[in-house]
Order: sequence, then C-alpha cells, then structure tokens
Amino acid sequence: MTNTIGIDLGGTVIKIGLVQDGVLTDRREMAAQSASGLKSQLPDLERNIHAMLKSNQLVQKDLLGIGFSFAGLVDSRANRIISTNQKYDDGPDIDLVAWAKNNWDCPLFAENDARVALLGEWQHGIGRGWENIVMVTLGTGIGSGVLIEGRLLRGKHFQAGNLSGHFTVNHRGGKCTCGNIGCMEAETSTWKLPDLIRSHLGFGTSTLQKENTLDFEALFRHAASGDLVATEVLDHCFSVWSAGIITMIHAFDPEVIILSGGIMKSAPVIIPQLQTRISEYAWTPWGKVQILVAQNINDAALYGADYLVRSQLN
Ligand SMILES: [Zn+2]
Repeated sequence: MTNTIGIDLGGTVIKIGLVQDGVLTDRREMAAQSASGLKSQLPDLERNIHAMLKSNQLVQKDLLGIGFSFAGLVDSRANRIISTNQKYDDGPDIDLVAWAKNNWDCPLFAENDARVALLGEWQHGIGRGWENIVMVTLGTGIGSGVLIEGRLLRGKHFQAGNLSGHFTVNHRGGKCTCGNIGCMEAETSTWKLPDLIRSHLGFGTSTLQKENTLDFEALFRHAASGDLVATEVLDHCFSVWSAGIITMIHAFDPEVIILSGGIMKSAPVIIPQLQTRISEYAWTPWGKVQILVAQNINDAALYGADYLVRSQLN
C-alpha cells in the first residue's frame, strides 16, 4: 500500500491528510496562526502527523513521503519556500526537507498551494481528462496554477502561472500587498471587499450597513435581495474577475478554467456571469473556454500533495 501525508498550509487552517493508494482515508485540521510564522506551528504539526500515523496502525517506514502545499512562492526543486506575502513569513528560513527527514525519515516535496490544488483537481476532480488547465482560487487572496500539455508550468524562478492574482487590471488602482498597483487581488479579494463596499457613494442607503462582517457571503445575499450597492459592487467583481481570467486565457491557452475557493458556494450566480463575459471578450478562434467549478474545494490540495509525492518519486 502507498501511504502519503499531505499538508496544506492555508491562511486560517492547516489541513493534514493521509492518502492510501490514492484515497484520502484520514484528515485533520488545526487552526493556523499564519501571521505568527511557520516555525511555531511545526511542533503541533508533528504531533498531529504522529497521531494520525499511529491511529492508522502505520509506522515510519510505511510512509512514502510528505507533500507540502504552501501559500507562497516555492522552489519545487530544492523543496524550499522562496517568498511569502503576510503568511508564515519565516517560511524561507526553514529547512522542510530536513524537518521531514528528522521526524519521519521520509522525503518531502513542497509546491505552491494553487499548483497542488490544480494537481488534485486534475487527478481526482473536475479536471480529469483535460491536459491544459488554468485553476484560479478566489479567496482571501487570488491564487492560480497552470497546467500546459499535462505538465505544471513553473518557470525559471518558480513563479510562472502563480501570480495571476497580481495581473494588473487597473493601472490607476490601489496599492496591492505585493507592491504592485491595481492587481486583480487589490481590486476584488476578501481583504479589499469592506473597503470597496464602504467607499461606494450609496453606502449610506445600503442594507449592507447592518452587517458586522462585509464579506462575499453578505455581498451575494444583499445583491440577491436587490440592494443596489451590493449589486454594483458585485458587478465590479465580475468585471475584474473576467478581465483577469481573459488575460490568463490569452497568456496560457487553456481548454478549461477551474474556479475554486470559498465563494464558489455562490457558483450558480458566478459561473453564468463569468462564462458570458469570457465567451464574448476572449480571443479564442478555436472555440469557447469552459468555466468549471472545482469538485474538491476542501481537499484538492491533499489529493494533489499525494500526486506530487508519487510523481516526484517515479
Ligand atoms: Zn498584487
């Protein structure tokens, strides 16, 4: 039996999964304090992995390897974190390979989280059967990964295809956390949303005023009940997302786009909006790029981490 452990380091939750012969058989979550760094989380991670192996009657030598999915730029040859953006900022100082070797005497393979989720959807989800995929995660930030002719696009410095959330969509826009101006992420993501809503001229008359938390869940709810501010802000988001996705289509030539992230709960509203705009504006004389919704929004990275380990060892 092939046993791998997947670790998915998100901004608020760390997921740990045991994949046995390609099936996710056990999973745990621990709260992440991503702002306080990665090193401080390692003891908890070790405890959880040891406990997971033990409760599945596995010993160290049963473990083929660890797949490590990280929300930042990752050198997937050296299996090290290269650069972070306000999450686990001490990551580049940590020798993850040595950490896995010392604890479990097994190899560790690290990769950017959007790429790992893409591998998971490609092997186990909605992406099965396609060889040219762009995956976009709409969430706190905007992540992206690209598969071309069945291979992950990585590039000289491991950033190719990862920074679509930082495509400039408004050259007169606001400053982004990455240092650029008017990024897709700086124009729409969760961290920008409260500001977008409050700065709308009609905010004083909007039903959104009653909300304590101005998030996408609230935005979709108020737009559905006809609030003008919510409708206009949402329309702005659709417009930014479709602009970004059209640029990805022009850059990477995918057959399909897979969308993921928490806001896909509103997929029945989002998909038709984006599909219409993209079909109308993208230059694809061969046909229309299909917009698909990820199948394993919660666990794609755990499946992808398993594939990462197995494909690197082959
Ligand atoms: Zn940016």
